Amino acid sequence: MSEETSRLEGFHKKELEERVKLVKENSSADESLDHLVGKGLSNQKADQMIENVVGTYELPVGIATNFRINDEDLLIPMVIEESSVVAAASYGAKLARGTGGFHANTTEPVMISQIQVTGLSDANAAKVKVLEKKDELIDIAEEQDPVLVEHGGGVEDIRCRVLKSRFGDYLVVHLLVNCQDAMGANAVNTMAEAVAPHVEELTGGDVYLRILSNLADQRLARARAVWDKEEIGKDTVEGVIQAYEFARVDPYRCATHNKGVMNGVTAVVMATGNDTRAVEAGAHSYAASGGVYSPLTVWEKTKDGDLAGSIEIPVPVGIVGGATSSHPGAQANLEILGVESAQELGEVLASVGLAQNFAALRALASEGIQKGHMRLHAKNVAVQAGAEEDEVERVAEKMIEEGKVRADRAEEILEKFRN
Ligand code: NAD
Repeated sequence: MSEETSRLEGFHKKELEERVKLVKENSSADESLDHLVGKGLSNQKADQMIENVVGTYELPVGIATNFRINDEDLLIPMVIEESSVVAAASYGAKLARGTGGFHANTTEPVMISQIQVTGLSDANAAKVKVLEKKDELIDIAEEQDPVLVEHGGGVEDIRCRVLKSRFGDYLVVHLLVNCQDAMGANAVNTMAEAVAPHVEELTGGDVYLRILSNLADQRLARARAVWDKEEIGKDTVEGVIQAYEFARVDPYRCATHNKGVMNGVTAVVMATGNDTRAVEAGAHSYAASGGVYSPLTVWEKTKDGDLAGSIEIPVPVGIVGGATSSHPGAQANLEILGVESAQELGEVLASVGLAQNFAALRALASEGIQKGHMRLHAKNVAVQAGAEEDEVERVAEKMIEEGKVRADRAEEILEKFRN
């Protein structure tokens, strides 16, 4: 077992330089960290990533501490504009340490690519014709990406669905592709495009769309953890369970419940250069896949009265390909995390989502979310009111003390201090 620890006491109180030093000491990141500190993405790199580039756009990288996942300590980089998220994740993880932290696993990293076949009067017979030639179609798909096949990936199966549409039956062919350490969108889209003409030939139909599905329900990560009733308090156990039940029976609440889960998940997806929209689309469509929009997490009481949380989410993410390979900050963050496969990254995402949800529900069911939010929010309000670096803390402190965190009050306090 390594000497590295994620239990960095007082990390939040240290100077930024001191934090960087601690992260270097407790992760495999070293010089690469310099890409996060001060120097960002170069214009040249940015210009290669998207079109019509005029510059870059910075966001903070924070490190969530205290995470123990499958008996390993991990420091977790998060990129997010919202205050309190990193602190809440770290807090949720800290309270789960006593019971062993998070236990997580994943399915194989399988993505689905869809081929839409229209103009069929005999869609069911067409389905059988496609499945008869499954092996040939798999060979054609795999020829498109020998590198993926070399890394142990490739097409695992072809499945067909017949859907009733307003324009007659659609045959929808699914390629199930093991993408190994890649997110795989480009890989599976290329495969679908290559297979499509053969499907047209076999069925006599017309193919329109050939694209992956973001309902990545064949690429799931799960995590579980227990929070000790003595540590968090029996009221918190009850409160979290009541909060979960509220989300389970009310989509208005459930949307916010799941948004809270994704606060953590998306921040890590962003930090690692992965596609936040792909993961968000996957999470919310998966949450609704039972026919009712449902919570991504489940909260129960163990027979000893402790709080047991679990989560299952689609994790269409990679550690190679896309921006994970081209963005130097993403590379540095992957080094801090130290994950060695896309599946391990998925396990981190599920664990962070669970910790984040615990912290939010705990706060909501007790003192409310605003108390924690207000400290950092007050600083933002002070900055917006024109406070300079040395004034921000004092103005924020005064507003919190008064219980009035508002722009007009920040301006008044600032004026008073300056006079
Ligand atoms: P990619 O094409 O850049 O890289 C993946 C390739 O890397 C694989 O196909 C394989 O050839 C190679 N590779 C090398 N080592 C590998 C390993 N160990 N495991 C697996 N593959 C390995 O990227 P991608 O992952 O195919 O696509 C990701 C990008 O596609 C993201 O940037 C995403 O935003 C974008 N995208 C998303 C959608 C969507 O979600 N709907 C649609 C289109 C594109």
